[in-house]
Amino acid sequence: MTQKRRRRAPAPLEPRPALSPLHKLVVQAVDRRGPDILGLSRDLYLRPELSGEERHACTVVTARLEKAGFKVERGVAGLGTAFTARLGRGRGAHVGVLLEYDALPEVGHGCGHNLIAACGLGAGLALADLIRRWRGRLTLVGTPAEETFGGKVVLADAGIFDRMDGVLMVHAGYENRVFSNSLACGSFEVVFLGRSAHAVTSPELGINALDALVQLYVGLDLMEKSLGRGVRIPGVILEGGVRPNMVPERAVGRFSVRAPTHALRRAVHRRVVRLVQGIARATGARFSIHPTDYPYLEMRTSRALAEVAREHLLRLGRRTNDAPRTAMGSLDMGNVSHRAPAVHIYVDLGAGAIAGHTREFARATQAAAGRRATLAGAKVLALTALDLLTRPTLRRAARAEFRAAGARTTG
Ligand SMILES: [Zn+2]
Repeated sequence: MTQKRRRRAPAPLEPRPALSPLHKLVVQAVDRRGPDILGLSRDLYLRPELSGEERHACTVVTARLEKAGFKVERGVAGLGTAFTARLGRGRGAHVGVLLEYDALPEVGHGCGHNLIAACGLGAGLALADLIRRWRGRLTLVGTPAEETFGGKVVLADAGIFDRMDGVLMVHAGYENRVFSNSLACGSFEVVFLGRSAHAVTSPELGINALDALVQLYVGLDLMEKSLGRGVRIPGVILEGGVRPNMVPERAVGRFSVRAPTHALRRAVHRRVVRLVQGIARATGARFSIHPTDYPYLEMRTSRALAEVAREHLLRLGRRTNDAPRTAMGSLDMGNVSHRAPAVHIYVDLGAGAIAGHTREFARATQAAAGRRATLAGAKVLALTALDLLTRPTLRRAARAEFRAAGARTTG
């Protein structure tokens, strides 16, 4: 064997302790429910629904859960396509499992949220099959509109996740991962209002709103470069006048501030506001700033839960990438992670370095490797949930770590 070949060969997985008899029952229960799980993934793939319009998804998932004995509440936190489905009894742990199901325009389930819903359903059905073997409460939460305003932010603010011992979800990806980091994010629109005038004969009589916005655009680029520390301030210009012979009286831009922590994001946002004020004073334009979505908080992965999920993925033959992500976006799961110990798990679709938000990604959820990833996702959720429900020491460790991470942060 050549040196090159030897480097390419994947290292064998280190031996793991075998699954306990109870864990084996969970795995078997997921496999038994395979047709239900994969059927849902395919159904949603064929009927993609945009954020906030996920009525079919919500209806079929909740009907399935009700049939399995869950107590379902729809329209939670004022979101028409959100739900909670509760199962369990007595004291003990309270575990949350999240289901997303919104799709994207043009590319359908290009982010694979059909798989997320299927994994959550599978974990719920498997644990319902074994309910006599655990104590505590399991709540499945249907979290709509991840792709737009972030349904989890609304649900987190409504207190849905408060006092849960762990909140788990699975997302499809190009690698297996349990330690997910994400940036805090806040988006806002800036409107400058000036005064129109003939742009050639009497521009001095006007106030050029576009000039103000261009200064802001350039200023934010400089601010981003000077701040470093992982801060990003991308932006677009939406309106910048009507005709070249008229001084633009209205200009509109949209920007977002992304930063490794919520505190830093807020500090940068205050600087942005001061810059807008300064430009308005310098140009004579008036301005308004308003948020365009709910601020996302950075993801705080529960190390205690992630370690358990990682072990289970290894037992399922999936090695995880534990190096911190360098290129990352923002997740509404971040807000959940400031309310309860949380883990956002990625399962490898087995389609190589595939890009998200594409038709290829949607199709990969239906390929043989994608179907295997779906069942693995359901299993890691069910196994980790079961550990939380049956191991008080794990609950205490997750809770202690969560407390140590600091007081609850609000948007
Ligand atoms: Zn997604």
